[in-house]
This record gives sequence, C-alpha cells and structure tokens, in this order.
Amino acid sequence: MNIILLGAPGAGKGTQAEKICEYLGIPAISTGNIIREALKSGTEMGLKAKSFMEAGQLVPDEVVIGIIKDRLKEDDCKNGFILDGFPRTIPQAEALDTMGVVIDKVIDIEVPDEKIVARMSGRRVCGNCGASYHLMYKQPKVDGVCDLCAGTLVQRKDDHPDTVKERLTVYHSETEPLKDYYSKQGKLRIVEGQEEVSDTTALVYRELGE
Ligand code: AMP
Repeated sequence: MNIILLGAPGAGKGTQAEKICEYLGIPAISTGNIIREALKSGTEMGLKAKSFMEAGQLVPDEVVIGIIKDRLKEDDCKNGFILDGFPRTIPQAEALDTMGVVIDKVIDIEVPDEKIVARMSGRRVCGNCGASYHLMYKQPKVDGVCDLCAGTLVQRKDDHPDTVKERLTVYHSETEPLKDYYSKQGKLRIVEGQEEVSDTTALVYRELGE
C-alpha cells in the first residue's frame, strides 16, 4: 500500500509513520529526516535547504521532488511506502502523479493550532540518529538520552515557538490545499489526533482498513 500522511507540523505524523512502518513492514520516508541528514553530513543539498528549514519555510519544490524521486527508486519501496511530510505543496503532489506513483490512501491527522504549539515545545530529537521523542507523549527511558543509540536529545531549531508559528502559517497556505486535491480523488481520510498516541494509531489503522 502507498500511503501519504498529511497534517500540520507537530500533528504526530512521524510517530504514526513509525507505527505503520512496523505494522505493515513498509518503509516510512520523511523528507524532513532526509534533509536533516544531508545537513549533518554537509552535502550541497543540505546547505541549500538549511536557511529555509531554519526559518520555518518550505525547501524549494525541485529539491524535495528530487529527493523523493531517488528514494522511491530504492528496492525497499517496491511493496509500498509511507510518505511523511511529502507532498507539502500542490506541485509536489502533481510531481508524484507525473512520476506515475499511485497513492492508495491519504491520512490527514488533524490537530488544532493551539495544541500544536504546546506540543512542539515538548518535542525532542536525538542529535545523533534523529529519533524523535516528546517530554509528555513519548518519553525516552532515560531523561535526555536516546533509547536507540544513547545520543543526546535536543530541541530542533525549527521547533522553537516563533518558528512553529511560521511553519503553521506555511502549512495553512501551502499544504492544506492538498486535502481538497486528494479528497477529489476519493483518497482522503481524516483522523482527529488524540491525546494518547495509541488512540490515534487505532484510528489510523481503522482508516487504512487494517
Ligand atoms: P519535518 O521534519 O517534516 O517537519 O520537516 C522539517 C522541515 O524540512 C520543513 O519545515 C521544511 O523546511 C523542510 N521540508 C520537509 N519536507 C518538505 C517538503 N515536502 N517540501 C518542502 N520542504 C520540506
């Protein structure tokens, strides 16, 4: 199954993507993670993306479309994949169509803006492997330490409150129109984000028909 996870930054797409990945055995592909990885290794693409990302703005379409084109060619995608954070604009969705990628379901996780701002202030990521945690919803076993690689947990620059507000503005103007785009194709399923991650996961699975 080819799945897109839509939703505002901080709506819990990444966490749900990991759950579906384990459950269905298909890879979760996060353009945000790929860009952060490129930034860490200092590649040309990483350098191009840096200023946009840190300002809470979208990285230009041609850069992220190129990333996805390459990633979807990899072997592990042949039985399906979960796109987390792509597409984020109409031209990106059109690029998937042009590539001949058939999307089966688009799950939109809805969370009100006020909750997003509160949630994102508690978000932490591993500075080493990029795994994500939350001070309230997904605590690491040891405070400030990654469960997977023992790296130090940090707050992403783009999770600071002012940047979060900018990211939400961008989400409403650039990404939200995708709901209409996929609704017209009969693929959109809306899930209300719940307080408990597992409750949201149950609703997501229901929409996936699993
Ligand atoms: P994320 O981790 O998905 O919230 O992504 C973090 C940042 O990476 C975003 O705020 C954008 O600057 C950039 N980014 C990730 N995915 C995309 C995309 N599909 N289109 C444009 N920019 C993106």
